[in-house]
Amino acid sequence: MNFILRGKIVTPTEVLEDNALVIQGDKIYHILENDVFQKFADDFSKNYKIIEFDNDKYICPGLIDIHTHGAIGKDFMNSNIDDNKDIANFYLKNGVTSFVATTMTNPKENILKAIIAAKEYSKLNIASSELIGIHVEGPYINKEEPIFYGAQNPIYIKEMNIKEIDEFIEAGEGLIRRITVAPEGTPGSSEIIRYLVKNNVIVSIGHSNSNFEEAKEAFDAGLNLITHLYNASGTWHHRATGIIGAALLDKRVYCETICDGHHVHPSAIEMTYIVKTPEKMITITDSTSGAGMADGEEFDLGGQRATVNEGVCRLVKDGMLAGSALTLNKALYNVNNWIDISLPQLVNTATLNPAILFGLDKEIGSIEKGKKADIAVFDGNFIAEMVIKKGEILYKK
Ligand SMILES: [Zn+2]
Repeated sequence: MNFILRGKIVTPTEVLEDNALVIQGDKIYHILENDVFQKFADDFSKNYKIIEFDNDKYICPGLIDIHTHGAIGKDFMNSNIDDNKDIANFYLKNGVTSFVATTMTNPKENILKAIIAAKEYSKLNIASSELIGIHVEGPYINKEEPIFYGAQNPIYIKEMNIKEIDEFIEAGEGLIRRITVAPEGTPGSSEIIRYLVKNNVIVSIGHSNSNFEEAKEAFDAGLNLITHLYNASGTWHHRATGIIGAALLDKRVYCETICDGHHVHPSAIEMTYIVKTPEKMITITDSTSGAGMADGEEFDLGGQRATVNEGVCRLVKDGMLAGSALTLNKALYNVNNWIDISLPQLVNTATLNPAILFGLDKEIGSIEKGKKADIAVFDGNFIAEMVIKKGEILYKK
């Protein structure tokens, strides 16, 4: 089906008023100004289905979540194909057209099982939000204290091990695109980082107590992302700025943040946008099964019990923040209310910026001629009105 969306279009640099987005097959074919569209309106109406949106709607690129563990009571660590389908459909309804399934610190066999389930799901090419990669979060992280390992289970934390990582990469058949590590825990970690980067894996520093110099060394080896900046990132002190100071200062490094208002104070988010610039910011959810669940319900988080209350997920045993109950469109809504940046800059943090980081920006991440027609139409509160994946309307409010 070929169609034309009429209304406000959010490109990487501006909001185009009253334009026409021409979708042909699975691709964005053209963006036309109103007068051009009007000139050929009769012809268009014969060959295209024309969908008009009011002035309070925004035609945006589909969102990309590069850090999520699951939703609606289902977690990638213990999911099957049907569960993965349900999770993907939940993302889709929230405007997310691509996601990176994230594993937890667990015994190797469990991580392998999760990788295989995600790969099998991906091979089915189901019309829904698309699994574009797997993020292995742990077990190669810091096990010293809860402020570093957070809600990851310290029993299974270990040093980086190329042989084991290779098993993950092999099992994923190209889907392992990201690993979160604490470089300080492994002698010679820079060599391993170089090896992973060469193998098309994005290496991210997180759940780590590296000092500034160790973090810099990892950046020089090709590590270019910090996992949920500020959470499980140690502390920033003016004589010991650690991974936070290193990541904030280094222009090569992207910062992802959980913008639910519980993990990081809005003022810290605002400060970070100023220091890093919006181009280096990535909005994520780090959502767990708790996303989309009712208050008081319990769920499993990598073998530990957690519960969701008023939008906050915590471990039952000690109350530690346990991922989020956030959706990515809600995260954008929050940032939009907290800080003063343009709508394109804000949307880029959950579309173009992650696409560039993952080397997918020729295909997805923005509304530009020739890219895949992955589109989310939002109202002013970032509630999804319509979601299109590869030129197919898969969701309508
Ligand atoms: Zn996570």
